[in-house]
Amino acid sequence: MEGALARIGELVDAGGHHLVATVNPEFVMRARSDHEFARVLESADLCLADGSGVVWAARRQGCTMREPVTGVDLIPPLAALCARRHFRLFLLGAAPGVAADLASRLRSAHPALDVAAHSGSPDPSSDTETLALVHGHKPHVLLVAYGHPGQELWIDRMSDRLGVAVAIGVGGAFDYLTGRVPRAPEWMRRAGLEWLFRLVRQPWRIRRMAVLPIYALRVLRTGNQ
Ligand code: UDP
Repeated sequence: MEGALARIGELVDAGGHHLVATVNPEFVMRARSDHEFARVLESADLCLADGSGVVWAARRQGCTMREPVTGVDLIPPLAALCARRHFRLFLLGAAPGVAADLASRLRSAHPALDVAAHSGSPDPSSDTETLALVHGHKPHVLLVAYGHPGQELWIDRMSDRLGVAVAIGVGGAFDYLTGRVPRAPEWMRRAGLEWLFRLVRQPWRIRRMAVLPIYALRVLRTGNQ
């Protein structure tokens, strides 16, 4: 987590435009068949391991990785960093009112934080309105909660026009951080069972999650430990 925050700070200081992706096994499986999504992930300046499934795979392939850095865990310390370093933050996505709710919670925790919010939509018909709001706030860091692969493709499509140093796709993180969707208890996350908790709470995810056993088999087949 400290490494991720330090790198994001460096990317803001470097200026330009950078993509940060929070990669989970569903991303990996999607990228195998969706070449555009794979291209965008390959172009990311930083890919974080969003969950124990990616840490497990990385370790089997010989990478040293201490812990997952999920989007939902990243946001509170990132907001603290933004407050401390005077980076403006913009929360984009989720259902109407959710990003604004999170913005006011983060403002209460960090009175120095300059944060704005908009629910928006990844549909091109919303681009003009979203861009106007983003340009009005001039954020250094933009969090996009449209779910994958839409949020990464949206950031890629808009990269030349956004004018933000760091854009991060954060999936359903705003829903978790505002208490709209409960998170798996710590022991389940540690045991790598967050997927099971999600499946029980949100059974409609079953089709998306059907790729997880295939992911596990592929990791077992390609790992070298
Ligand atoms: N979402 C959105 N606009 C859309 C589609 C999705 O704002 O057109 C939001 C949705 O409200 C939720 C998030 O994107 O907050 C998707 O969360 P999920 O946990 O499914 O993300 P993923 O696992 O795909 O990264």
